[in-house]
Amino acid sequence: MKKRMKFSVVIYAVVMLLLLSWMLGVFQPKDDNLAYSQIVELFRQEQVRSFQVNDHTITLYLREAYEGKTTLRSRLADPEGFRRDFQALFLEQQEAGILESYDFVAGKEMSPYDFVLPIVLAGGVLLILWVILTSRASRSNPMNDFGKARTTLGSGQKKVTFRDVAGVDEEKAELQEVVDFLRNPKKFEEMGARIPHGILLAGAPGTGKTLLAKAVAGESNAAFLAISGSDFMEMYVGVGASRVRDLFQQARKVAPAIIFIDEIDAVGRKRGTGLGGGHDEREQTLNQMLVEMDGFGRAEGVIVLAATNRPDILDPALLRPGRFDRQIYIAPPDSKGREEILKIHAAGKRLDESVNLRTVALATTGFTGADLSNLVNEAAITAARENRPVINMKDLNDAMMKILAGPEKRSRVRLEKDRRLTAIHEAGHAVAMYHLPEHDPVHQISIIPRGHALGLTWTQPKEDSDHLTRNQMYQQIVGLLGGRVAEALFLKDISTGASNDIDRASKLARDMVARYGMCESLGTVSYTSGEEVFIGRDYEKTKSYSEKVAGTIDDEVKAIIDRAYRECESYLREDAQKLQQVVEFLLEHETMTGEQFARCMEGKPIGEAGDTSLFDSYRQ
Ligand code: ADP
Ligand code: MG
Ligand code: ZN
Repeated sequence: MKKRMKFSVVIYAVVMLLLLSWMLGVFQPKDDNLAYSQIVELFRQEQVRSFQVNDHTITLYLREAYEGKTTLRSRLADPEGFRRDFQALFLEQQEAGILESYDFVAGKEMSPYDFVLPIVLAGGVLLILWVILTSRASRSNPMNDFGKARTTLGSGQKKVTFRDVAGVDEEKAELQEVVDFLRNPKKFEEMGARIPHGILLAGAPGTGKTLLAKAVAGESNAAFLAISGSDFMEMYVGVGASRVRDLFQQARKVAPAIIFIDEIDAVGRKRGTGLGGGHDEREQTLNQMLVEMDGFGRAEGVIVLAATNRPDILDPALLRPGRFDRQIYIAPPDSKGREEILKIHAAGKRLDESVNLRTVALATTGFTGADLSNLVNEAAITAARENRPVINMKDLNDAMMKILAGPEKRSRVRLEKDRRLTAIHEAGHAVAMYHLPEHDPVHQISIIPRGHALGLTWTQPKEDSDHLTRNQMYQQIVGLLGGRVAEALFLKDISTGASNDIDRASKLARDMVARYGMCESLGTVSYTSGEEVFIGRDYEKTKSYSEKVAGTIDDEVKAIIDRAYRECESYLREDAQKLQQVVEFLLEHETMTGEQFARCMEGKPIGEAGDTSLFDSYRQ
C-alpha cells in the first residue's frame, strides 16, 4: 500500500511537470520585440490593416510582410499613452479605409499561470481517487486470494492459558507434552523423541475443545492459526486443497505454531461414503491435508490440533500414526470439574453470601463448560436487570431452569381447556413418578409454557450417576407415559402433547432391548452397529441382524411399553382423587413445589410454597 502510494505520487509529479512546461510553451506569446518607433513607423507607412491591444501586448495584422511576417506581436509599455497619442491617426486611417478595425481590450490577459492551480488540484483529486479505488479493488477481489487459507491469528486477544480451563486435568497433562515441545523443540530433537504431528480433541459441543487448543498456544507462546473445517469448502474444486497448502505454509513461516482445525469432520469424513455418492472436493482437501501432515518434519515446530464431536465418522487415514495419532476425549465435567469451571466464570462477578457453587455444581449434572458459563452469565443478567449488585441463588436457579427448558412464556394466551389438559397431563407424570421408588423425585410441577413445552414436571436426580440400571430405565418409561395415561383416563381423549414423551419412552425401550441386552428372548447381544449412514442417524443404521431379529426387537419394545402403560394406569386409577387435587391446584396457582405435591399425596393439607430451587436437595 505504501509502495503503491509513493509510486503514484512520483508519476503524478512527472506528469504535472510535463504538462506545465507544455502549457507555458503554448501560451507564451511570441514577442517580435519591436521598438515603439518601429510600431509607429508601421502605422505611418499605412501598413497596419488592423490591430488589437490586449493589456500590454499589441498584435498587428499587416498588409505586407514585414521581416517575413504579416502578424507581429510586441509589448507595449504604455498602451494608454499609445492610444492617447495616436487616437486621431487611427480615426483618420479608419475613415480612409486604411485601418479596417482596431480594438483595445481592457483587463488582464489570461496568463498561463492562471491555469496551473485548477489543473494541479484536479490532478490531485484524481490521484487520490485512483489510489483508493485500486487498493480497495485489490482488497475485495476474492480471486486475488481465493486459494489462501483464511485463518485467524490469535494475537491481540486476551491470552488463554491452562488456568482458564478447568475440570480437564488429565487432558491438560497430556497436552503439557505438546507445550513443552513447542517451547523447546531443540531439546526433544536431540533426544530423538517422537512428538505427535496431530492431536485430535474429541468431545461434545461446549466441552472446551477450542478453549483448550487456545490454551495450548497460550502456554507455549506459539502462534495460533485457527481455521474451521468448513472454510476449506468452496464452490470450486481445488480451492480447499490449495487452502490447506497455504495454511501449512503460513504455519511454517511463523513456527513454533499451532494449527487448529475446528470441526474437522467437515473435511475429514470417511471417503467414499455418505448418501449421494462421494464428494470430490472434500476428498482432494483431505488428501492434501494428509500429504501436508506427512510432509512436515518434526523440527518445524508445527503441531496440528483438530476438534470434532464426531470422531467416529473420521476417515481412518487421518487417524494413522504420523497424523492424528493421538486422540484426547473430553468428557462433560464431573461435579468437581463443574465447580471449578463455575469458579472461573464467577470470578469478577459479585456473588451473594448465600451462593454455594458446590451446590450448583452438584445440581448441574450433564452440563458442559459452555452451559456453565452460560448459566453464570444468565444469572448475572437477571441480577443486573433487577438492579441488584450481587448474584443470588435464585438467579442461578432461574438461569438453570431457563437453560434446561427455555424461557418462560407467561404472556402466552391460553384457552382454559388447554390449561386443564396441560394440568392433567403434568399431574399424571407427577403422580406416576410418586409411585416409582427408583425414579428421581418430583421437584416442581408447572403449567407455565417454557420453551417448546406447554407444561413441565421437573425432577431432580439424586446423585451424579454414570449408569442407569434396567429398573431405572423401566421406571423412567412409566413416568414418561404418565401424561398420556392421565389424558386417556380423565379426558377420555388423548392429545398430541405427549408426542415427545412417547418418543423418549420408545427410545429408552429400544435401547434396553437392542443396545443393552436387557431382555431375555434376545439375550445379552447388542444389535446396534457403530457404522452410521450419514443422513438419518441412530436407527437408520446399517442392520447387522436378520429380519426375524428385527421383528423380535419390535415385539419386545412394544411389550415393555405396554407393560409400563398398564402399570402407570393402575397408579393413576389408585390416586385419581389426589390427581384431581393436583390439577385444581395447578389451575389456580400454575406451579406446585415438590413439597406441596408430596404433602398432597400424603393426604396432608397442601400448604404454602416454601422457597424452592433446583438446588434444594444438594444443599449441604
Ligand atoms: P467446544 O469447542 O468444545 O465446542 P468451546 O471451547 O468453544 O467448546 O467452549 C465454549 C465456552 O465454554 C468457552 O469459551 C468457555 O467459556 C466455556 N468452557 C467450556 N469448557 C470449559 C472449561 N473446561 N473450563 C472453563 N470454561 C469452559
Ligand atoms: Mg469449538
Ligand atoms: Zn409430558
